[in-house]
Amino acid sequence: MRLLLIEDDDRIAGPLTEGLGRYGFTVDHVRTGAAGLAEAGHTPDLVLLDLGLPDMDGLDVCRSLRARSAVPIIMITARGEEADRIVGLELGADDYLAKPFGVRELVARIRAVTRRTTGSLNHLSAGPVHPAEQAVGAQQLGALEINRRSREVRLGGQDVALTPREFDLLAHLAQDPDSVHSRQQIMDTVWDPHFFGPTKTLDAHVAALRRKLGDPGWITTARGVGFRLTVPGDTV
Ligand code: CA
Repeated sequence: MRLLLIEDDDRIAGPLTEGLGRYGFTVDHVRTGAAGLAEAGHTPDLVLLDLGLPDMDGLDVCRSLRARSAVPIIMITARGEEADRIVGLELGADDYLAKPFGVRELVARIRAVTRRTTGSLNHLSAGPVHPAEQAVGAQQLGALEINRRSREVRLGGQDVALTPREFDLLAHLAQDPDSVHSRQQIMDTVWDPHFFGPTKTLDAHVAALRRKLGDPGWITTARGVGFRLTVPGDTV
């Protein structure tokens, strides 16, 4: 598997390239956003993107990458601001890791992201979905329509563009609407079994979903427990 690492800091890129190599990954390393965008033309299997780059804002690199391909993107960032991460996820990044992190943790994320994106690609290559089947496969929740076969979401008949992970999160919550799904259960199912570590990424994805669905009432927080999907305005 070929990774494109866009990272200006050699003190991070060096050990990372070496560590990932031990796990069998081939790493192409570039130090600027411009070089990264040029190198992305050689179709890497996954992009590791530092947000703090010397020539461009990493978020702009993310947007440009996503505009031209569906390559999985994991942001690596020293920035503490939740806002950056949420914007990155909205721009189409699949996940993020905050520095400092271990190679083993990064490898777990790479495998999780790859599994998900490969799964959806396999699904797409299975051929066009018959319109009738599509209608049958769709789950309707108020104005929200979730189609697990085509991995499409519509709200009031309008397409909602979700990242693969956002879709998985929404589909997971929608399996049992109105009931609370615990954070750990969500992390185990939507992220990785036995997910270990901070679950801030879950909050970022929930925030992104709420914004894309246009009403924070779709996903309510059960404080200290988890989240549930509810049709806004419905009494539970
Ligand atoms: Ca940097």
